Amino acid sequence: MLKKCIVTSCIVFKNNKILLIYHKKFNKWMYPGGHVEPGETPIDAVKRETREETGYNVSLAGSMPLGIRYKPAMEMPLPFCILYEDVRYKTGRHMHFDMMYFGLANGRKGKLANGESTKLKWISEGDINKTDTYQSVKDILRYSFAAIKKMDVK
Ligand SMILES: [Zn+2]
Repeated sequence: MLKKCIVTSCIVFKNNKILLIYHKKFNKWMYPGGHVEPGETPIDAVKRETREETGYNVSLAGSMPLGIRYKPAMEMPLPFCILYEDVRYKTGRHMHFDMMYFGLANGRKGKLANGESTKLKWISEGDINKTDTYQSVKDILRYSFAAIKKMDVK
């Protein structure tokens, strides 16, 4: 059955490096992320998934240009990109609308809660080409390194 899902991803950065996880299902280096669960906002989800998969808490960098903070309509921080992904699981096909955020890594807190990833690494811009991952991920990493250089926070 075709499912439509909101998912989130986080480009975790610190000191001009980006954190990748080795994704066992895809056998590729990826950024952390996952499905928005019932009762969560995408912001809750991207922070939870990042913490579960990397152990890091992140401060998100999305802007809120309108400043709308009245219930019941609340502005959410803007993702830097929304990817459409056609994902084929054993149980069926999912249409993923992947809201992608930049997150500054704060101190590493917990242990990993998720069995999907075991290895982590921080990469520099020069490591992109030799990283075993999808072309779309490499494009996102190139864009991200350029974007984080322009941010105040490192
Ligand atoms: Zn899904």
